[in-house]
Amino acid sequence: MTLKMAVPNKGRLNERAVELLLKSGLDLGEEWGRKLYVNVKNQDIEVMFVRAQDIPVFVASGAIDIGITGIDQVAESGGDTECLLELDFGHCRLSVAVPEASGIKSVDDIKSGCRVATSFPNLTKKFFDSKKKKVDIVNVSGAAEIMPHMGISDIIVDLVSSGSTLKTNRLVSIADILASQAVVIGNKGSVKSKKDAVSGIVSSIKSVIDGENKIYLMADVPKDKLQDVQRMFPGVAGPTVMNIAGRDDMVAMHVVINKKDVYDSVNTLKRMGAKGILTLPIGGLVP
Ligand code: AMP
Repeated sequence: MTLKMAVPNKGRLNERAVELLLKSGLDLGEEWGRKLYVNVKNQDIEVMFVRAQDIPVFVASGAIDIGITGIDQVAESGGDTECLLELDFGHCRLSVAVPEASGIKSVDDIKSGCRVATSFPNLTKKFFDSKKKKVDIVNVSGAAEIMPHMGISDIIVDLVSSGSTLKTNRLVSIADILASQAVVIGNKGSVKSKKDAVSGIVSSIKSVIDGENKIYLMADVPKDKLQDVQRMFPGVAGPTVMNIAGRDDMVAMHVVINKKDVYDSVNTLKRMGAKGILTLPIGGLVP
């Protein structure tokens, strides 16, 4: 049975989502940038390109089995879906932001009847209800930051990552409603009925992300330093140690390490007298 998968057709999540699918080994063919859907050539998977905000709705309804979108969109839609994997990109927060000159320092300072421009009306309402604040929500489809300047709202609720767009528009964040990142979500029924296909693609994407955070390290190390090396590099299942033809003083060691440890590892190995140190990227990692 074909697995139907949705990825954002444009915007901030599109490029990395497609990259993850390609690196996972899905052959999207030549035309994926121009077509709204593609039949994956080497798997029984159909990939549709739709708006990030529509994906949770389609997945909840079962029209799509799994999709990549932001936690913010999942929460706003309120649909019943299952989060299958956090993708560690598209990090942002849904924030309440006010004009710098407004004098508002916290949510407590917001007066009843305050007009809030947002494209997240449901999360905004829930947030202000929980704070027992009665606000007027002005539903906009984008560019909320400009609304206070146009006199359309007093404050905004919008996604913030670096905060530079807020700063440019003389706004300041006073509270966070939600922390978001890109995730893979699944339809609850499909996760059961298409279990193998769903776990196949999810674990493949996970192996790409895990592989990107690791490095394959090879080095020729003095044999008498082998115990120190084994202690230093637990690896996935300990370092692989091999004889080098014609040498009985050195052995070749291969190990997978965290990317962040490369600098220290290479320098420690050098101090131990290691030679021919090679570091290679990893295409995928299935422990
Ligand atoms: P868009 O680029 O408008 O299609 O946004 C799609 C998704 O990108 C949002 O729903 C968020 O999950 C994510 N995102 C990450 N950082 C930001 C940001 N600073 N502003 C807007 N969206 C962001």
